[in-house]
Amino acid sequence: MKFGIILLLILFIASPLLFFSVSGEEKAASCDAFPHDKTSNKKGEGMSFQIQKSDKDWKGQLTPEQFRITREKGTERAFTGKYYAFKGDGVYKCVCCGNELFSSDTKYESGSGWPSYWAPIDEDKIVTETDTTLGMTRTEIMCAKCGAHLGHVFEDGPKPTGLRYCVNSASLDFEGEEEE
Ligand SMILES: [Zn+2]
Repeated sequence: MKFGIILLLILFIASPLLFFSVSGEEKAASCDAFPHDKTSNKKGEGMSFQIQKSDKDWKGQLTPEQFRITREKGTERAFTGKYYAFKGDGVYKCVCCGNELFSSDTKYESGSGWPSYWAPIDEDKIVTETDTTLGMTRTEIMCAKCGAHLGHVFEDGPKPTGLRYCVNSASLDFEGEEEE
């Protein structure tokens, strides 16, 4: 009889401990499941870019809008950029360093108001970084050569990648294909 009471008492004391240890594990698991980007682009965290310039130099080379967006991670207003509805055949380069980033072959009309592509020309052209500003977790995309902020990549794009590289027109410089 006495033994039974002690056993009950132990169970009673131990049950919250058991509960807490389980919920602790759940918490750890959800941390591991932190949204991660499904692109194959390299991570830009702590990366030192091949092209390094002072703000003064960038300001001398770029328009104020281009500087605000590419060097200060700004965003142009939707439906205001020069390339969101643009349909020319050619290559979109980084406005800062000329790195060839996107081709008109992967550009599509996403309806977002920003130029959208389902893939970069080459995955090595772009690096990504987790962006938690504005109360959201997004994946920032940057030029792999100079670190210019380009925009973000989302997982609601069309086939075959299912990705949407959403880019500010101000960070791009279009070069049309030469007719032969
Ligand atoms: Zn660049």
